[in-house]
Amino acid sequence: MNTADSIGTDSEDIAPLDEYAVTVLLVDDQSTVVEVIRRALAAQPNFYFYHSRDAREAIGLAERVNPTVILQDLVLPGIDGLTLVERYRANPVTMDVPVIVLSAEETPAVKSEAFKRGASDYLIKPPDPVELVARLEHHSKAYLNQIQRDEAYHALREAQQDLMKLNTELQRLTKVDGLTGLCNRRFLDDYLATEWKRAIRQQDPLSVLMIDVDHFKRYNDTYGHLAGDEVLKKVATAIKLSFSRPADLGARFGGEEFMAVLPKIAPAGARHIAEKLRCAVEDLRLPHSASTTAHYVTVSIGVASTIPPRNGPLTALIEAADAALYEAKKAGRNRVAVSPV
Ligand code: GH3
Ligand code: MG
Ligand code: MG
Repeated sequence: MNTADSIGTDSEDIAPLDEYAVTVLLVDDQSTVVEVIRRALAAQPNFYFYHSRDAREAIGLAERVNPTVILQDLVLPGIDGLTLVERYRANPVTMDVPVIVLSAEETPAVKSEAFKRGASDYLIKPPDPVELVARLEHHSKAYLNQIQRDEAYHALREAQQDLMKLNTELQRLTKVDGLTGLCNRRFLDDYLATEWKRAIRQQDPLSVLMIDVDHFKRYNDTYGHLAGDEVLKKVATAIKLSFSRPADLGARFGGEEFMAVLPKIAPAGARHIAEKLRCAVEDLRLPHSASTTAHYVTVSIGVASTIPPRNGPLTALIEAADAALYEAKKAGRNRVAVSPV
């Protein structure tokens, strides 16, 4: 038995957390029983022994010493031992701690009642030392193993949840452009292909906007590449804010070019949205001293809309938007041009 040997309710010593230490709490008011048990455990190297003669203090002591097994006398002054067993079961600290009931007699009715009210085992007083040690070791080990399993289970659950979060984040990252937070080209291509097929099936219009920052090479040359990146982020935000339906998609097409996909939007609506976006960027008034179009950053936008013919190629829509963008540039930039498909 260890140094915590024979401490009573007045001791503050708490047994160290030895992996398979057996921490016994005996609640019994009979000195002779306490002595018999103390002696039985004295030779056991991995045992810690606490006892309380006072049932009213038993719960408090249990909360302090964290027993791995409780030896509970059935008859105590002022309280029935089984009522105490129920209190251990109701207390979060002791609810799973095995409780071996100590009884002076072996009556089937009392035994059955003890198990019904939460006892884990039953021993007749005074217990045989060999049997006592074996049962204490068995229950204590089972209890500690259960705690380890619970902890391992919780750790596994947490690891699984972390992994799921990481997977979701990874999935998101495969779709998002790192600089602007808009969808990336890969996602755009998939989305366009899906919407193209849907538009063919349902014979709905599909519109795209090709958006390009004007004189952006000069902007970089004048203000530096990092300042250029900041402009791209602001244009991206303006794109995000320029449409509101869940099906509308803004994406980075590449470099300083962006694309918006607007399912079920006809040419007039697409032109309206493009014009709104052009104004929104202009209204940011981001200084651009090297631009020959304005004193601030502007964009040109090419719009293409179509109700796609069956078996019509998607590339026709993109090429039309590109051609419209070229027209907008040629006509002086900072403008919207619409191209027939
Ligand atoms: P235009 O008005 O005809 O569109 O002229 P432009 O200078 O905007 O077009 P050009 O295609 O000649 O140049 C595009 C520039 O965009 C060149 C390139 O360095 C810059 N660029 C592309 N991607 C990025 C980026 O991620 N960050 C920054 N800062 N610049 C970029
Ligand atoms: Mg440009
Ligand atoms: Mg360009």
